[in-house]
Amino acid sequence: MSEHGFDTVAVHAGDAPDPTTGALDPPVVLSSAYAFDDAADAAAQFSGARFGHIYSRWRNPTVRALEAKVAALEEAEACAALASGMAAVHASLSAHLGAGDHVVAPRSLYAETARLLTGHFARFGVETSFVDATDPGQVEGALRPETRVIYAETPANPTLAVTDLSALAALAEAHGAALIVDSTFATPAHQRPLALGAHLSLHSATKALCGHGDAVGGVVSGSEARVAEVRAEGARTCGGALAPLSAMLLARGVRTLGLRTARASATALALAQRLSDDPRVARVHYPGLPSHPGHAVARRQMRGGFGALVAFEVAGGREAGERCYDAVRLVTRAVSLGDVRTLLTHAASTTHASLSETQRAAAGIGEGLMRLSVGIEDVEDLWADLDRALG
Ligand code: PLP
Repeated sequence: MSEHGFDTVAVHAGDAPDPTTGALDPPVVLSSAYAFDDAADAAAQFSGARFGHIYSRWRNPTVRALEAKVAALEEAEACAALASGMAAVHASLSAHLGAGDHVVAPRSLYAETARLLTGHFARFGVETSFVDATDPGQVEGALRPETRVIYAETPANPTLAVTDLSALAALAEAHGAALIVDSTFATPAHQRPLALGAHLSLHSATKALCGHGDAVGGVVSGSEARVAEVRAEGARTCGGALAPLSAMLLARGVRTLGLRTARASATALALAQRLSDDPRVARVHYPGLPSHPGHAVARRQMRGGFGALVAFEVAGGREAGERCYDAVRLVTRAVSLGDVRTLLTHAASTTHASLSETQRAAAGIGEGLMRLSVGIEDVEDLWADLDRALG
């Protein structure tokens, strides 16, 4: 663990003045290939006896600077940065799975990850059991001799369901499976899955790590050995390498992660409290509220706040939800999250439109469910907009 605090690590880890130019900010290296001294040098680099970047689909100095920064924040031996959050999810699973293997995953899950498991991996002979992962007993009950991965997402998209990572880590350890955690909603500022026993912690870096909505990327952290496999699978073999310009933008975002998440989490809690006291709102899902079923676990495994995401059901179902969605002015109607701007998503008409109403209900997604990603604007301005939009 670093001797420094989170914000100090976020600013300095992975960054050192460039030895040739003295540039404070790590230079953006756009080169796709790197020169060898001679045949012996080329052979040594290819065999791994000597470190070299060789080719930017494998390794790139700007991407490596971002990886060092994220690894330090995740208290991990290593990190692999890839082309998107989904590239990170795919590579993490792919590095652990083959035909005949089995995965236990939560029912409340980012819809694209669910599709990856039920579509892509199923085609290659990997079976997935979806359970209510907020109950570790259900995860344990679904384990089979061929279970290789327990997958978790906490807090989960879009219901903010909280999973007890220490409990799942104990199950994974006893079963010889890997616990892979999508920690995007929490960010490394609020949750460190590896310290709780997870084998890999991943993020859609497109979200709060970037923070400014101008780069797409994904990061996976864990032990040197596991991350090496994820990088080999995700970047070298499958080609999902992160672009150096995106790596630069993501590293710039990460330097202010702690400041932004502290502000956004405090505002999210204040808005969640006001929404839960409001008769125009049927239900609020926010792990920071004592009424949230995962509050006790969230208090134990998160720190410094409960994240920027709040989900709420507008009273009156889908029609009332759509009216509220259409009426916001300061809040932006958009997917994505973790941005400095506050963003609003109506799940039934956008991210979860491909599910039937019954499937949505089974995943805990009501027809009026709105997902609010709170930014860093002033809380009173945000409340004034929501108050007016609720009508
Ligand atoms: N995981 C979660 C929880 C997400 O919300 C998302 C995207 O919204 C992803 C993964 C995928 O990330 P990306 O869009 O960067 O591929």
